[in-house]
Amino acid sequence: MADCLFCKIIARQIPASIVYEDDRLLAFNDINPQGPTHVLIVPKRHIASLNDVAAGDDHIVGEMVRRAAAIAKERGISASGFRVVFNTNRDGGQTVFHIHLHLIGGRSLSWPPG
Ligand code: 5GP
Ligand code: ZN
Repeated sequence: MADCLFCKIIARQIPASIVYEDDRLLAFNDINPQGPTHVLIVPKRHIASLNDVAAGDDHIVGEMVRRAAAIAKERGISASGFRVVFNTNRDGGQTVFHIHLHLIGGRSLSWPPG
């Protein structure tokens, strides 16, 4: 999608610190990290938000979640723990409307979130 920040990162029109890529997914470090690990996992195909995920997207969403766990394992934070989050729309704090799974870890995270 022309005006989408994450589509531009996927197309290499905007630089990012990429940590994983395959045919369907890209993962890159968040520009404003909320922990020692803060990676965004995004599908290469534009989907605006979790509200726009259809039954046919089950596979890509599953891959996003499994990739988050794999990156956590690589970072050595699987056992200590981590958090994955899909912020959705205004009250969820979504600011970029290309679906992304936040992987945050490497420190003890408080709950509930603000
Ligand atoms: P949201 O608030 O939509 O759940 O998350 C958007 C995330 O994208 C934020 O954590 C923000 O720091 C990150 N972000 C915004 N602009 C950029 C950018 O240009 N590059 C990278 N790597 N992350 C970005
Ligand atoms: Zn997009």
